[in-house]
Amino acid sequence: MDRYFQMRQHGLFEANVPRYTSYPPANHFAGDVTPEIHRAWLAAIPAGSKVSLYLHVPFCRRLCWFCACRTQGMQSEGPVVAYTDTLIQEIQSLSSILPQGVEIAKLHWGGGTPTLLKASEMTRLAAAIRGSIRVSDSVEFSVEIDPNEIDDARLDALAAAGMRRASIGVQDFDPEIQKIIGREQSFEVTRSAVEGLRARGVSSLNTDLLYGLPRQTQERITASMQMLLSLNPDRVALYGYAHVPWMAKRQSLIPIEDLPAPEARLALFETAEEILRWDGYSRIGIDHFARPNDTLAEAERQGRLRRNFQGYTDDTCDVLIGVGASSISKFPQGFVQNTASTANYQRAVRAGDLPTGRGHVLTKDDILRSEIIEQLMCGFGYDLRKINPAQRAKVAPILDDLARAYDGHVTRTETGVRILEASTPLTRIIARHIDAYTSTQSASHSSAI
Ligand code: SF4
Repeated sequence: MDRYFQMRQHGLFEANVPRYTSYPPANHFAGDVTPEIHRAWLAAIPAGSKVSLYLHVPFCRRLCWFCACRTQGMQSEGPVVAYTDTLIQEIQSLSSILPQGVEIAKLHWGGGTPTLLKASEMTRLAAAIRGSIRVSDSVEFSVEIDPNEIDDARLDALAAAGMRRASIGVQDFDPEIQKIIGREQSFEVTRSAVEGLRARGVSSLNTDLLYGLPRQTQERITASMQMLLSLNPDRVALYGYAHVPWMAKRQSLIPIEDLPAPEARLALFETAEEILRWDGYSRIGIDHFARPNDTLAEAERQGRLRRNFQGYTDDTCDVLIGVGASSISKFPQGFVQNTASTANYQRAVRAGDLPTGRGHVLTKDDILRSEIIEQLMCGFGYDLRKINPAQRAKVAPILDDLARAYDGHVTRTETGVRILEASTPLTRIIARHIDAYTSTQSASHSSAI
């Protein structure tokens, strides 16, 4: 039977499914995590342990039409400086709650556009972090760089603050596509940012390319991918464009008739994937690729790959602390999302409160299902030998059911399950079968392919 036909039977070309960067997905977070619970989870981090810290800057100078991120445009520097003050105040409050010796092992600045900050503000923010919470000597400091919003002074400030990794969004180099998605960024501007980062010792460079963009063809994505690879990135994230104008109003500016059909989206992904493989990149999970000597590829080979809000990671910290409006923290006990409105976030922090917005307390069933889903998303399988006999007795019937439901796509052996290579486009749909909160809010999710 035709491979596309088989996958269509399971809704590959129609379904909207979570990306499973968390389980449960963030749209199931609710108001049952209070500031008191948030504070208790922070205080319960074991003394001396290593944590990750994610810092969110929700401002952009321009609002790209394709982007569904919650971010706000800025006309002047004032709000960004005021927001930086609040970030520093939140970090100082956190440091008063964290137990002795908690150390930052991974630090990521994301957004929005963190490179909107002036060089002096970057230096002030980095110093405030180091002055408040211990930072590991071997910290991995990564920053999302907008090539249109960076210069030598800011690159120097980030390098002096210890940046070793960077991520650059490209989307597509084709000028017509860039115009339609409201994000113009020439190859020369991107190349100059890459050269500036490399010259300052950035040893791991991640780039994002989107498939499924309006008027994108196999020829166009081939050309864009070849241009991207000429910049020699260490990692490439190949994300599907999610057209969700009911959630991101500015996407209404993108003509729906120019979007490729679902079958064409899969062909675009596979074309780009083939070029990456020819060029020696290893596939990492559903949508990432890395040079074989990159730490993400090593983590994948050694079974240490994890999934978090930034996608795939080799981060093994049990705790991720989110700082800034709408940032999400992850604790062994559950998730907390800071309040999303920048005004409410600033009000809470200035009043000396934690800016707790919503969250989720993990149940034992959540933890069990999240481990299965994470392993499916990271390694396309689940190995029962990694868990104890009591857990095995609970997980085995779930895997039996999964293999029955996806017969021909998932194989069940004595040691676990595995998604067949040809069926990996179905991975998010297969993971949804494990999701106990499942699909009732499918409009909040993106296309399965
Ligand atoms: S793509 Fe980047 S710069 Fe554009 S709106 Fe989204 S976060 Fe802002």
